[in-house]
Amino acid sequence: MQSHAKVVVIGGGVVGCSVLYHLAKMGWKDVVLLERKELTSGSSWHAAGMIHTINADSNIARLQGYTINLYKELEELTGQDCGIHRPGGIYLASTKERYDYLKQERAKARYLGLDSDFISLEQARDLNPLIDPTKYVGALFEPVDGYVDPSGVTQAYAKGARHYGAKIHRECPVIETNPLPDGSWNVVTPLGTINAEIVVNAGGLWAREVGRLAGIDLPVQPFEHHYIVTETIPEVRDHGKEAAVTVDYEGNTYTRPEHDGLIYGTYETRPKAWAVNGTPQDFGAELLPDDLDRISERLEIIFERMPALARAGIKRVVNGPFTFGPDGNPLIGPVPGLRNYWTAVGVMAGFCQGGGVGLCMAEWIINGEPAIDVWGMDVARFGSFATRDWGTIKSAENYSRRFRLTYPNETLPAGRRQKTTSLYDRFIERGAVMGVSFGLEHALWFAGTKDKAEETPTFRRSNAFSHIADEVKAVREGVGMIEIANYAKHEFKGPGVAAFLDRLLANNLPKTGRLALTPMLTPKGRLYGDLTVAKLADDSFMLFGSGAAQEMHRRWFEMHMPKEGVSYRNVTDELHGFAISGPKSRTLLSRLTRDDVSNAALKFRDIRSMVVADVPVILTRVSFAGELGYEIYCAHQFHLRLFEALESAGGDLGLKLYGGRALMSMRLEKNWGVWTLDYRPDFTAGEAGLDGFIAFGKKADFIGKAAALADKPAKRLVTMIVDTKDVDCLGDEPVFHGGKCVGYVSSGGYAHHVKKSMAMGYVPIDCAAHGTELEIELLGEFYKAHVVARPVYDPDGTKMRS
Ligand SMILES: Cc1cc2nc3c(=O)[nH]c(=O)nc-3n(C[C@H](O)[C@H](O)[C@H](O)COP(=O)(O)OP(=O)(O)OC[C@H]3O[C@@H](n4cnc5c(N)ncnc54)[C@H](O)[C@@H]3O)c2cc1C
Repeated sequence: MQSHAKVVVIGGGVVGCSVLYHLAKMGWKDVVLLERKELTSGSSWHAAGMIHTINADSNIARLQGYTINLYKELEELTGQDCGIHRPGGIYLASTKERYDYLKQERAKARYLGLDSDFISLEQARDLNPLIDPTKYVGALFEPVDGYVDPSGVTQAYAKGARHYGAKIHRECPVIETNPLPDGSWNVVTPLGTINAEIVVNAGGLWAREVGRLAGIDLPVQPFEHHYIVTETIPEVRDHGKEAAVTVDYEGNTYTRPEHDGLIYGTYETRPKAWAVNGTPQDFGAELLPDDLDRISERLEIIFERMPALARAGIKRVVNGPFTFGPDGNPLIGPVPGLRNYWTAVGVMAGFCQGGGVGLCMAEWIINGEPAIDVWGMDVARFGSFATRDWGTIKSAENYSRRFRLTYPNETLPAGRRQKTTSLYDRFIERGAVMGVSFGLEHALWFAGTKDKAEETPTFRRSNAFSHIADEVKAVREGVGMIEIANYAKHEFKGPGVAAFLDRLLANNLPKTGRLALTPMLTPKGRLYGDLTVAKLADDSFMLFGSGAAQEMHRRWFEMHMPKEGVSYRNVTDELHGFAISGPKSRTLLSRLTRDDVSNAALKFRDIRSMVVADVPVILTRVSFAGELGYEIYCAHQFHLRLFEALESAGGDLGLKLYGGRALMSMRLEKNWGVWTLDYRPDFTAGEAGLDGFIAFGKKADFIGKAAALADKPAKRLVTMIVDTKDVDCLGDEPVFHGGKCVGYVSSGGYAHHVKKSMAMGYVPIDCAAHGTELEIELLGEFYKAHVVARPVYDPDGTKMRS
């Protein structure tokens, strides 16, 4: 065995083999995979092998399409049979709400270039003879769906990787991974030690154990999962063609052909976590004892819907474990806080997603960034809140909801109150409906009383509508207060900090006591952050940004930081506070401080360390609501005191608490995008309309400068008014021009002050001019929309500057 490699991949399941294949295919030959036993010794060998493209995250759906189309190429390259069957896939809805969901999926497929479309229920029965059409209200058909041979696919990746020069060592368990001062790792096995520039944990069922060798806890959890292989079913045998693979959502069951019978499986509502305290090292290619009682309740439902299944004899029951992540998506990429340590774990649908995971990992490792935004799979979307127990609890929730509908306005119940601020109980008393971001509870809207604090899950406008309208009115006409503990705050200090940030950020750094908005770009000129940078002193800066992206940004900062002269801390959890916004916010502030807060003394985009309500705070004069307003940050120990002081001083001004939903409504009428939806690494600053915040002429050769200078955007983020009456865009709807799908909606909602349904989205430059008429497909209907180039509320920003 060699003593050095550029990359060591740990784990020879479908995911590890795909990572190795893609690295080697992209030209890195000095890459090695180490497998404990034989390839496919984890969950890969006993998978049902179903392949489908549907995923709530469009980029993951895209990658699933890539994976499925890769199999033919792999077979041709390696001669290894992947057992590809593509009879197509049917997705069945038996409720109106599920039918709405399928309409959204079909709409999304239009801009993703997939061919999903509705078929009649009779056509569905023609594709799968077991279906009783009277039980359903709609069927979506996806022609590329089918199934593969799991072992064949894994071996094909391995053969392909070897073909391109990679090495694989079997019977070679990794027993230690030791970091060295130069950033490399010594990967220790009984057969010898390899010094690796990069380590990839693709340990599958043992991802947690492999992680612990590097001192990290990964919030993933294996679960037992059953599927049943039937004897011959006459309806299947005599059908004349292979039956389509089928998902019955409300029946909570998937089926696929297997010779003259079927394989069918279900995701039980009370899942059984397997090996909670650790996957045994001696577990190999073996199955777990059946426990059909556990899934019998679910099976009763499908037997009613597909009666031939109930009559079918059982040839074999498979109960095998496989690993889930907290939100059902993989955890890939460089682990924040470690150098050169990557994961490709929690891949619960390795045969749908393994190819895409391998591709993105290889692009990211070799090119420094994947070709598309992989936020939905990024390991950095979890932080220290994602403990082992939390990981098990959330992964169990995800398993049990695999086929259950999650509405766009729904927040899931498991693992809640993991992190709260000192105001949690008070907010609940006031009827707050809480959401969660990066583990922290925050108010979405206030029902006024805790008895009514529940939101109807829906694709349409919910019971929150009038409450959000009231909150917006309070801000636009008086003063509102929102908790901002969930905003990320990053602190930088040291003699080298100005030079470092000048290179990291695309805009000019502000003067002392001032703020600037700035994009942060990748070397390819794509957005990696839209941040507010504040200069507190010559050697002291603060960056404010997306709370959800705080670990992703921390990883980026640490990756680019010089060895000396800059110290960095993520102080998000230490600094809580409030934003007060609205025409009366200055009056409110002036009641609580001895400082002069007049417009002349405290200007728009100023930042001050001062005392408010006897509490030391950092105060910025900005407002994401688009009003005169202030963000007031305090140490979390002062949070409650500051809140009480603001509330009592604001009573006669009509101060009202507002939540995240009202904020999202108000920013729409200001044409402001948000990180993860409108602004993300899929787009350049030019495409997102953030190029106005780039200081192209500044001396510093900031990251992404050359690419931003060369950028000639073909598409552009626009704001649209949508002519709907009772429904609003949710995000991911296709946008049409002249009957052709030209773009998609990145975010949408109702703008309560201007009383219009609005959306933001990406369209070609020649459709981006003010007034351009477009159409948007929303829940199966087409609505007229038109582009508004300037904000419909306070287009010149005079309110913020007043
Ligand atoms: C019953 C069942 C049905 C399924 N049906 C489907 C389906 O229809 N479609 C689909 O897409 N997916 C399906 N899956 C899921 C699929 O099997 C997994 O997504 C996939 O196997 C994950 O692959 P992996 O490479 O991440 O992990 P694994 O297959 O678990 O591979 C991990 C590998 O790492 C090795 N390893 C671990 N520790 C070490 C170490 N210290 N040193 C060296 N090597 C190590 C292990 O030996 C193992 O070979 C199903 C799973 C089950 C159980």
